[in-house]
Amino acid sequence: MPETSVTENSGVTMEKIVSLAKRRGFVFQSSEIYGGQSGAWDYGPMGVELKNRIARFWWKEMTQLHDDIVGLDAAILMHPRTWEASGHVENFTDPLVDCKKCKQRFRADMVPEDKLARKECPECGGELTDTRKFNLMFKTNIGPVDDGSGLIYLRPETAQGIYINYKNIVQSNRMKIPFGIAQVGKAFRNEIVTKNFIFRTCEFEQMEMQYFVRPGDDEKYFEYWRDQRWKYYEKLGVRMDKIRWHRHGPGELAHYAKDAYDIEYEFPMGWKELEGVHNRSDFDLKRHQEFSGKDLQYIDQDNNNERYIPFIVETSAGLTRQLLMILCDAYDEQKVADKGNDDDWRTVMRFHPNLAPVTVAVLPLMKKDGLAELAQDIRQGLKEEFATDYDQSGAIGRRYRRHDEVGTPFCVTVDYQSKEDGTVTVRFRDSMEQVRIHRGELEAMLKKAIKDYRRV
Ligand code: ATP
Repeated sequence: MPETSVTENSGVTMEKIVSLAKRRGFVFQSSEIYGGQSGAWDYGPMGVELKNRIARFWWKEMTQLHDDIVGLDAAILMHPRTWEASGHVENFTDPLVDCKKCKQRFRADMVPEDKLARKECPECGGELTDTRKFNLMFKTNIGPVDDGSGLIYLRPETAQGIYINYKNIVQSNRMKIPFGIAQVGKAFRNEIVTKNFIFRTCEFEQMEMQYFVRPGDDEKYFEYWRDQRWKYYEKLGVRMDKIRWHRHGPGELAHYAKDAYDIEYEFPMGWKELEGVHNRSDFDLKRHQEFSGKDLQYIDQDNNNERYIPFIVETSAGLTRQLLMILCDAYDEQKVADKGNDDDWRTVMRFHPNLAPVTVAVLPLMKKDGLAELAQDIRQGLKEEFATDYDQSGAIGRRYRRHDEVGTPFCVTVDYQSKEDGTVTVRFRDSMEQVRIHRGELEAMLKKAIKDYRRV
């Protein structure tokens, strides 16, 4: 037998991510007991922790670390004129084709060109319908009568809630240009094709920041925000060789955009958009001024009360999509033994400790002889500072594997020696190294390990 060689192999596929996400309580199919609801997913105990941590990381980056950015939480339901002004009623459409034979529906821009030209279904070869426009906004009805007079939309993006509050925020918080408004919240799109798990869904969450600048300064701040967003992913601790820029060509630019870049990640299904950084010019505020009849000019008190409609640079990220990225990026399969059985490999989620749903798991070696009580007591002492878990069932090796799959960076094991001298074992997820320290040193040691964390 050769010496046990520790090799790593990310081995990630979307099937493995979906399966681990369900097995460990990250993401469940919506309404599963009724056969599932396509386009919607539920975040389980681990998933909601991970999602909240990503949102908090983004929020801190935007608001706490940028003095000139403030937050907002606007309503999902907005006046329907908002969406006329924004251009969504007219332009927020996908080209759609149906197969007359197999009844499948496709986005025309995703059907291979030759097949679209021949009107041939990419799945069954049947005849395709003509291409028609399909608006992605969900409509619902507000008020007691359902005669169309109460038409209202579920917002398809969070950005418009920011634009229509920009004047309120300038006035109430005395914001001076340049400044930004950040928001995290739900958005809804009636996507034709929802596949690849939580990558593209009908209900999702966005993290958007809109930065208001003087006309003419937009290109400078566009570059500034491109740079800032790149650094964000470095700080998040993802593998930067899997991140790249994609600039929108003339045919790709949205109706509002002067310039646009996507940050893409190499998902198991290929390079896909993670977030957009857009120079939106003065399109949005001009339109809202026109449609609302309200003066949305900024009055520059430091500059002879000069009046202008600000330009907007936006950074628009998907929170749920970023969560999928984090799951894919953290996933690793590692060979840890050479016995020729299932235990040779472990699956480990290499989350940054700041993002891991559980930071420290406390495990008594045995339930009996007072070890469980001692472990509970140690956990109690860590709760205030860390997200903890307590796990006493099964062999210790199995428990480590379970926490590897959840991505718990530190396991603290309590054994008979702990009873004697107050020491415990800390096991590090990534290196599987174990060190023995006094329980009184745990807090400081874990804090340092989190601060110094580097992915191997
Ligand atoms: P696409 O062209 O892929 O439909 P988009 O370019 O319209 O997407 P934006 O409107 O720029 O996307 O949305 C900003 C971000 O919101 C995206 O980068 C993505 O992270 C997220 N997002 C958009 N649509 C969805 C969706 N259906 N499901 C999950 N996240 C989404």
